Amino acid sequence: MSQKLQHKLFWNWDHSTNWKLNVNGIQNTGVGNYYTKAPEVFETDFKRMVDFAAANGIDGVGVVGLLRECHGGEFAARRLCTYAREKGVRIYLIAGLYSYGGLFYEGNHPLSLENFLAKNPDCIGRNIGGDKTVVPRTDKHNKIEYCGCPSNKTLNNYILDCLDLLFRMIPDLGGIQMEVGDSWLGLCHCDKCRERREAMNADKLRSPAFYFADMANIYPQAGEVVRTSNPDAWVICEMYGHFRNNPTYFDAGNPAMKELLKMPESTFLQWGDRGVNYEAWAKEPLLPEHLRKYQHIFRCHHSTQWSGGRHTLAVEEVRRQCEMAYKSGIQNVSMFGECSPFNSTSEFNYLALNYFGDNPLNSTSDFARDVMAPLLGGSYDNALRFLKFGTLIKEPEKITAAVQEIAKICASIKNAEALRRWIYLANYLNSYNWEFQHTKRAANAAKLNLDMM
Ligand SMILES: [Zn+2]
Repeated sequence: MSQKLQHKLFWNWDHSTNWKLNVNGIQNTGVGNYYTKAPEVFETDFKRMVDFAAANGIDGVGVVGLLRECHGGEFAARRLCTYAREKGVRIYLIAGLYSYGGLFYEGNHPLSLENFLAKNPDCIGRNIGGDKTVVPRTDKHNKIEYCGCPSNKTLNNYILDCLDLLFRMIPDLGGIQMEVGDSWLGLCHCDKCRERREAMNADKLRSPAFYFADMANIYPQAGEVVRTSNPDAWVICEMYGHFRNNPTYFDAGNPAMKELLKMPESTFLQWGDRGVNYEAWAKEPLLPEHLRKYQHIFRCHHSTQWSGGRHTLAVEEVRRQCEMAYKSGIQNVSMFGECSPFNSTSEFNYLALNYFGDNPLNSTSDFARDVMAPLLGGSYDNALRFLKFGTLIKEPEKITAAVQEIAKICASIKNAEALRRWIYLANYLNSYNWEFQHTKRAANAAKLNLDMM
């Protein structure tokens, strides 16, 4: 086994990737949002990310919403993919095949699933009550997206034709991370779909079994179309969840699994970190034997709206991600890249992905010595302090003292970039302290009012 992981990747939504600072329309959360920035900011955001990736060992950048009419559609995507290729970075599309808007996320285009379903309502999925299936979203700002019926041949042919067209339209597109839809409510439950899933032993109200049959229904054919259109493109299959969390993945005889196993070894299977019990995984780390021939990606949500919050310092979590990937036979790792490395906490998370991808068995202290110290003014002890201070958002009462220490450290630093990293940390911590103090004050005032009643 190689001592290194192979590829490190960034996963991003177009609407909440913010590498150009101080522009209007920035969003810090959500999925399936409308794009709210000026059109040209899309390319600037991602070109900056590509530049950082090229300089810091990140091999690929995946984008949901890569194709959206309001930020330049296929023309902007083509320019961006070519820019990235020239820098040695691979941009790949992240898209739902039956849902999540399809390949062309929003706008008037032949690849728009939304438009196709509007013109071909027979291809829209049906929920248990017989109504049209919509991707369940809770935020009023989200797009409303109908889901397709995977048993519908017209729709399947349309999807395969679109994949072919996509890779011919953007020759520098580096691949696709494809999905089928991962929500019980967002899947088609027509008679044909239920029968098909039952025949594949997969119609269970238990993740991921119920959509396993939908994956097997299209991933192999879709992968073949992509590889024929562009032999260099990566075919990444979202597997939803983690292989340790469901015995279905260990069952080589499962009918859906048998279909998936027809895919060639160059296929990537992507596993998520939702619900992972790391202790249990460490005891039995290896991938299911029949899946070991594939490329694998372990994708984590740390330092995002879903885990810890944006800009959380997650060096230790990234270290554990790379260690467990390595020990289980997963060759590639992915994390969210939406936040600008101006935020030094995010910057160190990204640098950690590169470092632990290359050295998956090294310690966090090794990272502090090898990477952080030179970027923070040269002192290893201070790099360790940065790591310690970074976790104080959970102990805000300690922040005032920490910020005073940071001020002393800053007094001896001449390098502007090192100063930016420390001053960002101080301000980041202060924002948590500010919130803590105001919340405490409001609670005290409320208590006082109650006592006086
Ligand atoms: Zn159906």
